[in-house]
Amino acid sequence: MSYSIAIDGPAGAGKSTIARLVAKKKGCCYVDTGAIYRAMALFMLRSRVDASDREQIAQKCREARVELAYENGEQQVFLNGEPVNGLIRTEQVSQMASKTAAVPAVREWLIDLQRGLAKSRDVIMDGRDIGTCVLPEATVKIYLTASVEVRARRRYLEYREKGGTETYEEICEDVAKRDAQDMGRAIAPLKQAEDAVLVDTSEMTIEQAADRILEICAQKGC
Ligand code: C5P
Repeated sequence: MSYSIAIDGPAGAGKSTIARLVAKKKGCCYVDTGAIYRAMALFMLRSRVDASDREQIAQKCREARVELAYENGEQQVFLNGEPVNGLIRTEQVSQMASKTAAVPAVREWLIDLQRGLAKSRDVIMDGRDIGTCVLPEATVKIYLTASVEVRARRRYLEYREKGGTETYEEICEDVAKRDAQDMGRAIAPLKQAEDAVLVDTSEMTIEQAADRILEICAQKGC
């Protein structure tokens, strides 16, 4: 029997770094579902769709074929056949992803891809609605969070390393805005599933958070 570990939580909680480490330690596949929404957002930006025009987003999304592949254990996301990993980690794409992800047709269009990935293999999948919507029967559910200030600082350092010019204050504002959008949307809002275990990483190192998740997995027998 394969297992699935669902990790949900707000931007900057450390989901991807921690999930990647847990995947390495457990030898399972890491699925970053945010990358799927980001690829869709890139498509909308390129198509010059107005971020507030939900009807147009709903119509357009069917023209975007988003696929994932794994090369040496690293996830690659493809948009209509083009590898776009290097183009989706910007604040502009983050904000557009949060807006497009609130459109029901987009979520419907992308859900089978996510469920299909968990069908035949052991996965650790992170996102906003994995434990609540995508994999409601997940073996383990974690809600990973941290304070807004800590999350914004992590994002700031990450962007600065890549040569980004955003200030800490700008990123803090963006993180708070994205939280409000992701938690306040009508469909699949970000929230802790009833059976999810809360892990607050504000005062934890990556290793400590990964160890905590491994401990929870062991308690659940996976
Ligand atoms: O996780 P990441 O920050 O890359 O996700 C980008 C955006 O995609 C989120 O702010 C959220 O709006 C959306 N998303 C989502 N459901 C998921 C994963 C991401 O709505 N499962």
